[in-house]
Parts: sequence; structure tokens; C-alpha cells
Amino acid sequence: MFIIFGTRGLKHTVSESPVLSNSCPNCNNGNLVNKLYRRWFTLFFIPMIPLDVVDRFYQCDSCKSAYNENIKTILQRSQDEINENQKRAKLVFAKALIASMTHMSIIDGDFAAEEEREIMDAIEGLPEMKEELMAIHQNVKVTGNQDNQVFNFLNEARNELSSEALINILAQAAVVLLADGAIEKEEENLMKEYLIACGLPKGMYQTLIDKLMQKDMTKIKKEQLN
Ligand SMILES: [Zn+2]
Repeated sequence: MFIIFGTRGLKHTVSESPVLSNSCPNCNNGNLVNKLYRRWFTLFFIPMIPLDVVDRFYQCDSCKSAYNENIKTILQRSQDEINENQKRAKLVFAKALIASMTHMSIIDGDFAAEEEREIMDAIEGLPEMKEELMAIHQNVKVTGNQDNQVFNFLNEARNELSSEALINILAQAAVVLLADGAIEKEEENLMKEYLIACGLPKGMYQTLIDKLMQKDMTKIKKEQLN
């Protein structure tokens, strides 16, 4: 009788290596599973003795794309970069937001309680940068746009954020403008200056106000229902 020896490679999951969840760069939501090819000594085509590892890689459990093991480091590095950029963008956004809201609320020479409440709400929503935002708020409250500080924050935002983010900031500032119930001429003019500083058309002023008025109406209706 013939005894048939041989070798063959088998793919195994490396169970001690953590799965990289939802991180397949190809399909975006597949999990990357660490795999290895091990050569086996076979007897009658049946693997009997493990020999050497011939390849290690990550494979997506969804689209089956395979990646070099370096993918783990690459993904980690880009995640760090994403987190860092996100943190930075959030801070730039928040600083411009608080500076313009505060500035808007003092421009008519009277700092109303409703205006202060809107600003405090916004700061409370960003607890990780609360101290820095409180300092900006206090400073703008006392010195206004001294050294062009408010417009500098808006400029920074213009350089780093999308126009959607800028519109969001100005919409919040417009909430302050509407908070005391009346739109003063100074407030309207300032909002138009903000729009220009953000590179947005001055005509957007009316759109912004109309939108917020509508929202305010639905808020009131909801409150009446409750
Ligand atoms: Zn995939």
C-alpha cells in the first residue's frame, strides 16, 4: 500500500488577536479578522502536524478583502488623526459660537436674562471646553469686539469649517438676537457683518431669521400641546 504524505496550507483565525470592528476600508462596516496560513504535514491529505506559518493578514468578514497586517497601525494612526481634527474643529466651532452669541447679546447695550440663558445652555452643552468658553464669554461680555477678537474667531472658523457649520454658528447667534423678542437695528447690522465675515451672502440674513421664526412658532405650539 502507498502511504501518501504531503503538505498543505490552511487558513486559521488568530483567536488571541482582537477583531478590528467596523473598520474595513473597502466596505466600511466589515470587521477585520486576523488570519494566518499555516502549512501542515498531511497524511492521506489529512493535516496531521502543524509546520510553519507562511502568511499573516487581516481579512474582512463581510467583503472578504484581505490586508497586510500593517493595516492595524495605519487604522490606529488615522483614527488618532481623525480624533485630533474633530477635537480641533469642535473647539474652533465652539469659540466662534460663544464669541458671536455673547457679542450679539451685548450689542444693543442691554444684556437680557434670556440671552444669557441661551449662551449658558450652549456652554453647558460643551462640558469638555467649558472653562475656555466661559473665559471667552466673560471677556467678550466686558470688552466686546476689542482687538477684533470676535471676528478673529469667526475668521478662524471660516478657514477651518464648512459653510454649513458657519451657518449653524450664525443661526445660534440669531437665536440670541431673537431671545429678547425684539430685533434691534444694531443686531441686524451686526448679523450682516457676521455673514460677510463668514463669506456668506448678506441676503442670507432674512432666510436665517425666517427659519428661526418658524422654528420658534413650532416650539411654542409644542409647549402649548404639553
Ligand atoms: Zn470589507
